[in-house]
Amino acid sequence: MQEAQFYKTHSNKRAKCLLCPHACIIEENNAGKCNIRINKDGKLYSKNYGKATGLHAEPVEKKPLYHFYPGQQIVSVGTYGCNLRCDFCQNYHMSQAHVHNDFFSNDISTDRVVKQVLNSSECCGMAYTFNEPVVWYEYMLEIAEKVKNNGFANAVVSNGYINPKPLEKLINLIDGFNIDLKAFTDDFYRKYTGATLEPVKKTLKTIRSKNIHLEVTNLIIPGLNDDIKIFKTMINWIADELGPQTPLHLSRYFPSYKMNIAPTPIKTIVSLREIAMDKLYFVYCGNVSSSYGGSDTVCPKCKTKVIERANYKTYVKNLNFEGNCNQCNYNIAVS
Ligand code: SF4
Repeated sequence: MQEAQFYKTHSNKRAKCLLCPHACIIEENNAGKCNIRINKDGKLYSKNYGKATGLHAEPVEKKPLYHFYPGQQIVSVGTYGCNLRCDFCQNYHMSQAHVHNDFFSNDISTDRVVKQVLNSSECCGMAYTFNEPVVWYEYMLEIAEKVKNNGFANAVVSNGYINPKPLEKLINLIDGFNIDLKAFTDDFYRKYTGATLEPVKKTLKTIRSKNIHLEVTNLIIPGLNDDIKIFKTMINWIADELGPQTPLHLSRYFPSYKMNIAPTPIKTIVSLREIAMDKLYFVYCGNVSSSYGGSDTVCPKCKTKVIERANYKTYVKNLNFEGNCNQCNYNIAVS
């Protein structure tokens, strides 16, 4: 266990966690909503510090990050736990593992994690992923600092449910984010995730304002968040607040955890992508075969295919080192 950052101790040894917007007030010998940050004698500790459940190199496109070192490998690390309770979680074995126990995690030092980056070939850096990195903030921060000092990049895949101060501290070390925007109504967030929408929008705007690479993922669940009117409101908001160059991944849902609604029809993903392409330049289909389209990166100006993707094989074809289209010199916004 490691002492947590971002908390205050009140009277009677109660601790208030300031890491995420849940703002848990935690009695001695109890844990916050995430069941990860626990109060011992008035001090808050992170229970999953150093408890890795996965550590391996994989294509950066798997995160998904399509405009961040395309075609390269990234070492991915995760622990267990989450500050959200999504009924449809596609990764619940890790995210909700704390509800049962942590038997499958390994104690892995931050130096050992960083070594994996140094020893991997064609590797751009480290991704904090698999389960929600906000709930292993201290472990992530320590690794990210070492990765950065060795000249590699850091990428965070997150639900964006974090308070502004810890986010500001984290941003200084991070080169790219993929943030899950699960829906565009507060009702959805409250009912199916146990969180709220506004803090996630705030996180997205903060990352954009700092000019850090940003991609957004939206998991489409039939009947729950595929309403066209609300979807268009979300797309307009992304275009206006984050910019039309922000890559958006529309991901196909499959039944998982507590949700047994049938999988998203592929035609829903394809038609929502077309709607989104009215405002955004780069919209991709996730969990859908590349034969349906929506995998390649096409220059929005001259329509040249600049990156081709199929089954996690990526071919950078018409991009120069500055991330500009070889044909018309348009900047594709690739890190
Ligand atoms: S990180 Fe955990 S303990 Fe802290 S406020 Fe969020 S849910 Fe509560």
